[in-house]
Amino acid sequence: MKILALFHTQDDGSLPKAALEVLTTAMAIKEQTGGTLAVGILGQGAANAAETVAGCGAESFLTVGSEAVAQARYATDTAAATALIRDSGAELVLAPGTARFARCLPGAAHRTGAQIDTHIVSVKAEGGQVQAQRWFYRQRILGTFSRAARPWIMLADAGVNMPWHGASGAASPKEVAVGFSDADLRTSVTGVRSPAADAQTIKPDAALLFVAGAGWTKKQKDGQFHIAEAGVLIQDFLIKAKSSLGSSKSLVDLQSEGQETLNFMTHMNQVGQTGSTPRHAKGLSACCHGEEPHAVGWRFINERRAINLDPNCGWAQGKADVVYVGDAFEIMAKVNALLS
Ligand SMILES: Cc1cc2nc3c(=O)[nH]c(=O)nc-3n(C[C@H](O)[C@H](O)[C@H](O)COP(=O)(O)OP(=O)(O)OC[C@H]3O[C@@H](n4cnc5c(N)ncnc54)[C@H](O)[C@@H]3O)c2cc1C
Repeated sequence: MKILALFHTQDDGSLPKAALEVLTTAMAIKEQTGGTLAVGILGQGAANAAETVAGCGAESFLTVGSEAVAQARYATDTAAATALIRDSGAELVLAPGTARFARCLPGAAHRTGAQIDTHIVSVKAEGGQVQAQRWFYRQRILGTFSRAARPWIMLADAGVNMPWHGASGAASPKEVAVGFSDADLRTSVTGVRSPAADAQTIKPDAALLFVAGAGWTKKQKDGQFHIAEAGVLIQDFLIKAKSSLGSSKSLVDLQSEGQETLNFMTHMNQVGQTGSTPRHAKGLSACCHGEEPHAVGWRFINERRAINLDPNCGWAQGKADVVYVGDAFEIMAKVNALLS
């Protein structure tokens, strides 16, 4: 089987961690099928990036490193990815599910007559047949499937494989010629607008997930709301613990209902059955009840802890490893002081 591990570089010319994770999978599939592996890289500094993974044992390295792909642009990325897939003659194309590839690889699949699947969490070859896995129905059903179509392109989810570590060296990459048309070059990326580092609350690579529940916005024991204070406590903790921020549905819903709540929280933070299913080593929930539709989003969090006033909250019914029964305002103020 001919396998292509397809990557793009980042602005600094390096490969994203998600690419190195895909490389681990691609090498395993090569082993399992007795196939051949090519590494294809597009983007600025592609040839140098190939050298950094030279020790992976790929038979060939293909690059498109021209000025046209220095910026992440649909038309040029699609043309470059199409050229790399065609040149490699790959039957199986494994690529990281980054924003850049999620945009352009469906177009490359169409041009190469390939079929494409997204959010792949596992690929294995048994008895010569390649089997992929992905979650369906909001991460509730894990499906295993195969396809007869070739090429078969898979965009892999980040965080499910160990990133490849190995020696760099001389990769002697082949620069694949791509005939970019004037129309391909018509769009120009003039800049990137992104929130400040501390405004970016969703951090998939953080070791800890902190999840805030609606309790932060409820009347507290003095009969008053303390929403501003809650915001300060939570943001202080996020910065000190370098933690990612999740939310219960109730808390983010309050916002859309126009009620005063935590202004740095959006539906993107929601964890659960109808929210996201993040993967972090540890999770800490505060002022959230631990209802089943919420806790289902915690299935890939290895160690779970919760703070709740209520000793009979959902977390105490077997959903958390440790429950601190106490006032989250007091506990988090103390935790922040200890972290200072
Ligand atoms: C089909 C369906 C899908 C759903 N999907 C999701 C989903 O994806 N994600 C999700 O989150 N929910 C989901 N829900 C809603 C879910 O069932 C819960 O209603 C919701 O998660 C509850 O949010 P909460 O725990 O923040 O709020 P509440 O249930 O109001 O709990 C607040 C908690 O805060 C505690 N508290 C208050 N003050 C303090 C304090 N000072 N210190 C410590 N604790 C305090 C209280 O004891 C209470 O337990 C779904 C529901 C349905 C029916």
